[in-house]
Amino acid sequence: MPHDVVLATRNRKKLDELQRILDAEGLGIRILSLDEFPDAPEVAETESTFAGNALLKARAIATATGLPAVSDDSGLCVDALNGMPGVLSARWAGGHGDDDANLDLVLAQIEDVPDRRRTAAFHCAAAVALPDGTERVVEGSVEGVLLRERHGENGFGYDPIFQPHGMSITTAQMSAEEKDAISHRGQAMRALAPVLGDLLATTSDVIGGAATGSPAR
Ligand code: IMP
Repeated sequence: MPHDVVLATRNRKKLDELQRILDAEGLGIRILSLDEFPDAPEVAETESTFAGNALLKARAIATATGLPAVSDDSGLCVDALNGMPGVLSARWAGGHGDDDANLDLVLAQIEDVPDRRRTAAFHCAAAVALPDGTERVVEGSVEGVLLRERHGENGFGYDPIFQPHGMSITTAQMSAEEKDAISHRGQAMRALAPVLGDLLATTSDVIGGAATGSPAR
């Protein structure tokens, strides 16, 4: 029987991506969406690091559901902006998740920065928390440069201006599979798979205890 694990997001694409990666590892883990737990809390990302925010969300969802929970937090760190927008990437221009405005603001802020200093990296922390308090966090990153104009229609967020080192296209010009293979999130999720597998294998006796919410199905 597969182990059920809740992913602390309502984003279907993230769920499919993690399920694909775990299936490739043959771990027998079924990822449940937060949508299946209508009473689960919305967790504000109040920490100053990606790892802190990922753990915050995983902990809260493990407590609320009584199931192992996985969460990720990611963003763009621009060297010429001293690592910002970082954990503020989703709301850099003010409103949460306004990708166009966020990208335009970063472009304006580094307009005078010469090409050789337009380096940046996407970072991702992926955390797992068990209802008994056990927790782990792993990270992934991809380095590159920020172009001056948008290229490509795929992806989201800052993808249209991010060109990974050693490549001549942006992450918005890649297919989902190409991006998964090099991306910060792909790396973090692949690193998380064996960690999750080990935790579930060694602590399966505590999983499922103290459940306070059951899937709405
Ligand atoms: P989240 O933590 O995955 O929700 O990402 C937070 C924010 O970081 C997003 O709203 C984007 O602005 C940015 N971001 C994270 N990952 C990516 C990516 O793969 N491409 C482009 N932008 C990203």
